[in-house]
Amino acid sequence: MALLSIVVPCYNEEATVETFYAHTSAVCAGLDGVDVEFIFVDDGSTDRTLELLRRLAEEKPGVRWLSFSRNFGKEAAMYAGLEHARGELAAVMDVDLQDPPELLPEMLELVRGGEYDCAAVRRVDRKGEPLIRSWFARKFYKLINKMSRTEIVDGARDFRLMTRQMVDAVLRVGEYNRFSKGIFSWVGFRTKWVETENVERSGGESKWSFFKLLVYALDGIIAFSTAPLAVASILGLALCAASFFAIIFVIVRQLVWGGSAFGWPSMVCIILFLSGIQLFCMGILGQYLAKAYLEVKKRPIYILRESGGEHCDKRET
Ligand code: UDP
Ligand code: MG
Repeated sequence: MALLSIVVPCYNEEATVETFYAHTSAVCAGLDGVDVEFIFVDDGSTDRTLELLRRLAEEKPGVRWLSFSRNFGKEAAMYAGLEHARGELAAVMDVDLQDPPELLPEMLELVRGGEYDCAAVRRVDRKGEPLIRSWFARKFYKLINKMSRTEIVDGARDFRLMTRQMVDAVLRVGEYNRFSKGIFSWVGFRTKWVETENVERSGGESKWSFFKLLVYALDGIIAFSTAPLAVASILGLALCAASFFAIIFVIVRQLVWGGSAFGWPSMVCIILFLSGIQLFCMGILGQYLAKAYLEVKKRPIYILRESGGEHCDKRET
């Protein structure tokens, strides 16, 4: 029988872990032709999450857990989970039930049918989300899709079910600055989008503040597009051309009409404008340099402190 590994990143989720397991394992019991294993990844939680996971693994078969030495972020947690998944199929799900487990049977059928390598979920609305947040999110998807050749689908969740072949491909993308929504799309394969409505959290709170999301969005752009670098050079070139014509104009004006040595306020404005643009472009360069710096260091994506549950070793390759 095929094995389906369900990877679940958890960060301070004491309020949701148990409901998630109860709900999802009930749905999984109805899946025929597959065994299911759960891989919970405790991303350095400071509440009782790990304790609950330990208990779950003791009581229930097919539950494994990994625990990080500190909070490494959801991207790292997904990576660790997928690295430890042993199934021929693997799925990634949030623990807060915002990824409805009821979709699993449909997704499983799609992938097992052989026509698709991956079934992924996208939400078609953003009900229950702060308005400003949805507005920025929509603009972000428009922008990144203009700037990057990798398609990033609006409303795509990280909830997906993949074949072993695709999981291995995702794991081969070993970059440190991970932006999974881009990586899943970059590796290719045939993906079927399953649409759903937005579901609110079953309990606890979202770990994403507006500022964290903004940084995440910028990371996504930098990870999957070098267009900002081109913007910097084009802007620089355009300004050089403009100042060249301005100089010609000033010289001609001096020669024809004379007496143009006035207007230092406008000069200050121009200097400020140009230095602003220079700083802006240097900032863009700095961002790429910083990312390259982190990549070059080759730090591990995550560090495990403990793991447990049956067969908790990494999958042998
Ligand atoms: N998460 C994580 N590490 C973090 C932040 C979040 O593993 O640093 C997990 C979290 O426990 C949840 C999932 O990522 O299972 C999605 O997080 P959340 O629900 O807070 O995000 P939202 O749904 O609001 O985008
Ligand atoms: Mg959530």
